[in-house]
Amino acid sequence: MSDSYDVIVIGGGPAGYPAAIRAGQLGLTVACIDGWKNRDGSYAFGGTCLNAGCIPSKALLESSELLHRAHTEFATHGIHTGPVSIDVAQMQKRKGAIVKASTQGILALFKGAKVTGLAGHGRLLPGRQVEFTAPDGTVRTLSGKHVVLASGSEPARLPSAPFDGENIIDSWGVLDLAETPKRLGVIGAGVIGVELGSVWRRLGAEVVILEALDTFLPTADQQVAKEALKHFNKQGLNIKLGAKVSAATLGKDGVTVRYTDKAGEQTLVVDKLVVAIGRRPYTEGLLAEGTGVALDARGFVEVDEHCHTAAENVWAVGDAVRGPMLAHKGKEEGVMVAERIAGHHAEVNYKTVPSVIYTAPEIAWVGLTEEQVKASGREYKIGNFPFLASGRARAMESTAGFVKLIAAVDNDEVLGVHIIGPMAGELIAEAGLALEYSASAADLQMTMHAHPTLSEALHEAALSADKRAIDFINR
Ligand code: FAD
Ligand code: NAD
Repeated sequence: MSDSYDVIVIGGGPAGYPAAIRAGQLGLTVACIDGWKNRDGSYAFGGTCLNAGCIPSKALLESSELLHRAHTEFATHGIHTGPVSIDVAQMQKRKGAIVKASTQGILALFKGAKVTGLAGHGRLLPGRQVEFTAPDGTVRTLSGKHVVLASGSEPARLPSAPFDGENIIDSWGVLDLAETPKRLGVIGAGVIGVELGSVWRRLGAEVVILEALDTFLPTADQQVAKEALKHFNKQGLNIKLGAKVSAATLGKDGVTVRYTDKAGEQTLVVDKLVVAIGRRPYTEGLLAEGTGVALDARGFVEVDEHCHTAAENVWAVGDAVRGPMLAHKGKEEGVMVAERIAGHHAEVNYKTVPSVIYTAPEIAWVGLTEEQVKASGREYKIGNFPFLASGRARAMESTAGFVKLIAAVDNDEVLGVHIIGPMAGELIAEAGLALEYSASAADLQMTMHAHPTLSEALHEAALSADKRAIDFINR
């Protein structure tokens, strides 16, 4: 095996593996090194997303939502069953099989693109040399014309609630629980808090989420955030805003969490405590002295708008660099970098990164929130359409939520779309395309949407921006 490659990618998560595959498709010789180690000691490509993030969380969200619907909705459809219960071990087995199929799929994709996948640790040395340590401890020095750093991120730590891997756990720990805890505490009402809090709530846990800020989902459009909070509270997610945690200690009754809120000092006792207060870039053991790659004050690898680092022909992508920590953002960066290495023109449009929160109702948005548009001073108009007025949503028994479209008054350009409701994560793709093409509200109005579909809600929201909605009374 040659130790020289056109491209060496360090990290095989959703940012690194697409970079490797696209570079391979473009005819470059590529090695992708990944050090992800499963609990059973096996190595797997796919990074956080496939092994302990996006994919396993969505598998559990699906199982728990089906259970919830069986309990609350089947009778409305006239479906009668015996008592419905959940076998957590089977649910986890299914999740494990989905993860395995997804991670092994990457090996097949590597084969197709002629990428050499190397399980083990990679460390960048000066001059684009990479020290590769295999699981058996063998060390080789590889050299690359280009190196792509895609080392990802890890959970942020809270000194007052240190992880013990058993009772005070991170997002990987809460994905792998073998049984439903009676009382689950979560620190952080962000994406992980509400998604994984929802999973275990639907399975019967009492869930309390402690959020330091007074504002719920501050990066979301606040009309959507308010609607979401209303639904989550109704579902029994006990979200406490403005809660500052000072200590978490393990005793014989469980984990005692001390925090203060507006009412003063409070105590919460739970069986499991999840700390989900954000993630931080992971670059441990990645860079030797003298590589020329710079990290910023928060530990992110410094890059320009094309993901090039301060070192010649060294690139960095995904969670390890600035921007939202999302798999699709990392993927686009990885592909862009591969294209640029091959001499093609490629860009990432950071204005069209969609955000999706996979709760029920689902939340999704792209572009600017109403708060951001207002702050920009640009005059805007809003179109709104509630799913209650959608025939398809009624047929699906999923009428919670709405579509909100924000467009500029001066040139009708769509500035942002915010959806809370059924399949919001799928519906947002059309809005993303609209933003990518700098579409106007009129463009969406003139686009025929199939009936009866949920996508008509976006069409009607666009019509409503000019008080032309047909299936809802314009206000
Ligand atoms: P990672 O996925 O972290 O991959 C980096 C890889 O590099 C890892 O395998 C790591 O072991 C390896 N590595 C690091 N250093 C080295 C080294 N020196 N040598 C060799 N290998 C190394 N995002 C979404 O878009 N949608 C979702 O639904 C979603 N759900 C999530 C749910 C959870 C519970 C979590 C925790 C995250 C979720 N995310 C989601 C975020 C998403 O997982 C990340 O944005 C994404 O994984 C980042 O990709 P990455 O390739 O940059 O890093
Ligand atoms: P997050 O940034 O979404 O939320 C963290 C929350 O914790 C914030 O609301 C923050 O105010 C709060 N917080 C911070 N410090 C706190 C403290 N000391 N006490 C109480 N609250 C505190 O982070 P996350 O939920 O941990 O998720 C990590 C990353 O993973 C996110 O950046 C997200 O992009 C990604 N992710 C994405 C998805 C998705 O796309 N559906 C799902 C899960 C995770």
